[in-house]
Amino acid sequence: MALERLQTLRGMVDLLPRQTMVWQQVEEQARHHFHRAGVREIRTPLLEATALFARGIGEATDVVCKEMYSFQDRGQRSCTLRPEGTASVVRAAIQHGLLNQGHQRLWYMGPMFRYERPQAGRQRQFHQLGLELLGVAEERSDVDAMAMAWDLLGDLGIQGLQLQLNTLGTPEDRRCYREQLVGWLEQRVQQLDPDSRQRLATNPLRILDSKNNTTQDLLREAPQLLTTLGKESRERFEGVCQLLQALDIPFVITPQLVRGLDYYTHTAFEITSDQLGAQATVCGGGRYDGLAAILGGPPTAGMGWAMGIERLVLLLGSQKDATPPQVVLLNRGESAQVRALVLARQLRQAKLHVELDLSGATFARQFRRADRLGGRLAVIIGEQEAQAGVVKLKWLHHPPQSGSDLDMGEEWTLPAAEVSKTVERLLAD
Ligand code: ATP
Ligand code: MG
Repeated sequence: MALERLQTLRGMVDLLPRQTMVWQQVEEQARHHFHRAGVREIRTPLLEATALFARGIGEATDVVCKEMYSFQDRGQRSCTLRPEGTASVVRAAIQHGLLNQGHQRLWYMGPMFRYERPQAGRQRQFHQLGLELLGVAEERSDVDAMAMAWDLLGDLGIQGLQLQLNTLGTPEDRRCYREQLVGWLEQRVQQLDPDSRQRLATNPLRILDSKNNTTQDLLREAPQLLTTLGKESRERFEGVCQLLQALDIPFVITPQLVRGLDYYTHTAFEITSDQLGAQATVCGGGRYDGLAAILGGPPTAGMGWAMGIERLVLLLGSQKDATPPQVVLLNRGESAQVRALVLARQLRQAKLHVELDLSGATFARQFRRADRLGGRLAVIIGEQEAQAGVVKLKWLHHPPQSGSDLDMGEEWTLPAAEVSKTVERLLAD
């Protein structure tokens, strides 16, 4: 009877070695950027109480209504695989009293889970890299955060970037605007798509974010939040724009940008790339001054963003191959294989990058493979060498310029006890 082949669940993706190399590049760059900016890493659990997201993201959002992986655990608690990072980070900051210790500059990276329709750049398990600045309400921190995202994307070499900026004002501004917008839309309900019609009652601002073209056309005429903002919010927004100009970061004001999550206030932004097709947004973020209080903590200003790592990787494409090994250890014969195993360990302990051939194939084949790997120096142990307590060395690629003990094409036989030191010296030349 044929067994059913087990495969990944829909929307869940394996990362194979060729891809993990690009991921590591992204991760390394991000670490450097955050380190230089005094941002420290936080790691929170993947699984949280469902209430955290229901409260922290908002019951009426798509994420909470339609996209969460929620289940009852064995103790009948409702748990959810985190769909995003901000609520968890703020929960952790409250739980551990970080908010009483001055302002916090935190970053995170890891898998998020959303039950969405999978397509290029959209998965059910995906990864985010995120920044959260807690405890500073000033415009400068909005711009500091956006500049970090902009510069990281630039340093990664991502092309065709655009920073789209908007403001959501204060909750009071939004209440006024919501009434205006709902009034205006109610007179045009017939022209709205079904999804937006539903949102009219639950989350009308999200209609601005609709992907439906007819709705988008209609909205061009709708009242805009930017023109109904209170004086303070307007001045704040102008301040943010001026600071971005001072940093020479280009941006486009995008009134329909409202972001999917409910707790945003003032600055909202997205960074898109024109190379991504439909899933154009690589980074989204904004200010969320109301969140800490919603989660039962002290009222605390917050500003942050999250980038989708899959989308970054799509943009970077598959990149160069693995770095070639410094040493390839060729070996054949019973006692030679044991010696080779021991020697490989020794050389690795000396911090060398060593590939141990485990194939048991002929030396001719092992040499061909070593060549393919791009290895630099071959260490060869056959039965004869093993019996005599010696090994042979031979350059495969890139011999030193000149004056080395070993020229290209030559073989050098030396006592096994001296290999480690000699190899280190040859490679250091
Ligand atoms: P979108 O409009 O693309 O659904 P969003 O507003 O739901 O994005 P955020 O919650 O702001 O996205 O998440 C920040 C970033 O995380 C997005 O800009 C995107 O790069 C990435 N992202 C979000 N959802 C997914 C997903 N399902 N698969 C891959 N990346 C995602
Ligand atoms: Mg989404």
